[in-house]
Amino acid sequence: MLEVKSAKYIISSPEVKMCPKLSVPEVAFIGRSNVGKSSIINMLSNRTDLAKISRSPGKTQMINHFEINKAELYWVDLPGYGFAKVSQTRRHSWTKMIWDYLEQRENLATIFVLIDSRHGPQNIDIEFINKLGEKQIPFTLLFTKADKSSQLEVQKNVKAFTEKLLTFWDELPPYFVTSAVKTHGRKEVLTYMAQVADLKKEMTTAMQEAKRAE
Ligand code: GDP
Repeated sequence: MLEVKSAKYIISSPEVKMCPKLSVPEVAFIGRSNVGKSSIINMLSNRTDLAKISRSPGKTQMINHFEINKAELYWVDLPGYGFAKVSQTRRHSWTKMIWDYLEQRENLATIFVLIDSRHGPQNIDIEFINKLGEKQIPFTLLFTKADKSSQLEVQKNVKAFTEKLLTFWDELPPYFVTSAVKTHGRKEVLTYMAQVADLKKEMTTAMQEAKRAE
């Protein structure tokens, strides 16, 4: 399990080119606004206001990097999708920034896509996920706010969501059911995070060695 000894805000970048250097593996968080992204980031880090930083003026539309422990892992808080009243221009710049980031960030181990467990499958989430699948970007689902409905209702919504995905894909991505309020899923997600980060590190090292040997 990843033990979060320290969690430090590093930088907010308006584009992928300006993000920190690639030497540390990273995981990113995304979802529609109000899905519980800040709460999950705080819950996982065991801090009360870590994610508040990326919500301060000017940073909500940026790629926000946090350093976990000493150069062990970056967490990246990405601006969410699904704002109702967003101009065409802003939507366009979000799309460019996010997809440039996802396609170019070589140290990205996985992106956590947050899904509100209170609702049935929403098109906006499915569309985003399908695009990740098409582009072969590794992602993981985090169903949020599991304490807000009965266990049965959560199970029903998770099943409906995964079944919907199976109408497009043969395989399901890894997924976890979480509650920031009850710290449900914390251990599982942090264990998984340590695994994907290690794997990414090994793959990067192997690739660098292969390049050197060429
Ligand atoms: P963000 O906009 O995605 O960063 O969402 P927030 O983390 O700010 O959460 C949106 C709202 O949902 C807030 O009122 C939170 O208190 C609430 N919320 C988030 N996660 C949970 C959870 O696990 N359980 C409950 N009961 N409420 C939650």
